[in-house]
Amino acid sequence: MGGRVRGRRAVRSRAYDCRVSLYRDEGVVLRTQKLGEADRIITVLTKRTGKVRGVAKGVRKTMSRFGARLEPFTHVDLQLHEGRSLDVITQVETLRPYGEALVSDYPRYTAGTAMLETADRLTVGEKEPALRQFLLLVGGLRTLAEGTHEARLVLDAYFLRSLAVAGYAPALAECARCGAEAVRAFSIVSGGVVCGACRPAGAAVPAAETIALMIALLRGDWEAADASEPRNRTECSGLVAAYLQWHLEHGIRSLRHVEREVERETEREAGAARHP
Ligand SMILES: [Zn+2]
Repeated sequence: MGGRVRGRRAVRSRAYDCRVSLYRDEGVVLRTQKLGEADRIITVLTKRTGKVRGVAKGVRKTMSRFGARLEPFTHVDLQLHEGRSLDVITQVETLRPYGEALVSDYPRYTAGTAMLETADRLTVGEKEPALRQFLLLVGGLRTLAEGTHEARLVLDAYFLRSLAVAGYAPALAECARCGAEAVRAFSIVSGGVVCGACRPAGAAVPAAETIALMIALLRGDWEAADASEPRNRTECSGLVAAYLQWHLEHGIRSLRHVEREVERETEREAGAARHP
C-alpha cells in the first residue's frame, strides 16, 4: 500500500518535471560529435532558443531513424528535456532533409557545409536567440537545395548577409573610412571599399562590376547576380571569403574546399595590412 502511494507521488513529480523542463523548438542541425559509446552531442541552431547542444542517446548503437534525422543540414522539429549541463533530445521529426539534395552535388554540398560552419561560428553563445541567423541559414540551404542559382553565389549571399546580421556588413557604396563616394579599392581591415586617399598599401582593386555583384548579393537582387560574369563571381568569392575569415579570426575550415584560386590576391592584401 505504501509502495502504491510512493508510486503515485513519483508519477506526479515526473509530470511536474515535464512541465517545467521540456521544451520544443525547430532548428537546423549544424554538427554532431560522439559522446561515449552510444550517444552523440547534436548542435542545432534553433528558431526561438538560439544555438542548443543536446544529447541524442543510443543513436550510435543501431542505425536508428532517430539518429538519421539528426544529421547535419536537416531542418528538424525537436523536443528537449533540460539537463544540468546538456539538454537531452527526446523527440525529433524531420521538417526538411536538405542534406539529401546536397550530398549528390559537390559544389552545393561544400557550400552548405561552409554555411553550417559559419552559422555555428557567428552564433557564439548557447541559448541566445538568433532568429535572423536561423532564418538566413534556412533560406540559404533551401536556395542551395533548389539549385536555381550557382552555389558560390548562394554561399556569398549567405556570407554577406550573415556578416551584416552579426554587425560586420562591409561598406560597399562609400569609402569605409571617410565616406567619399569615389571608391577604388577594397580593404578588408578598413571594412569594405575605400577611396584613393584612404586606401591602405596592398588593398585589392576589384572591378566595379565585382562590387556591384556584392551589393546585389547583399540585397538579394538575384536578377543582377545571375547576370554577372564568371570573372566577377570569382573575384567576389575571394573578397567575401577573405573578409569573412578576417572577421572570424581563425577562418572557416570548409572554405578550403570552396573556390580557392582567387584568394591569393586578397590574402596578400590582408597580409600586407597585418604586417605593414
Ligand atoms: Zn576615404
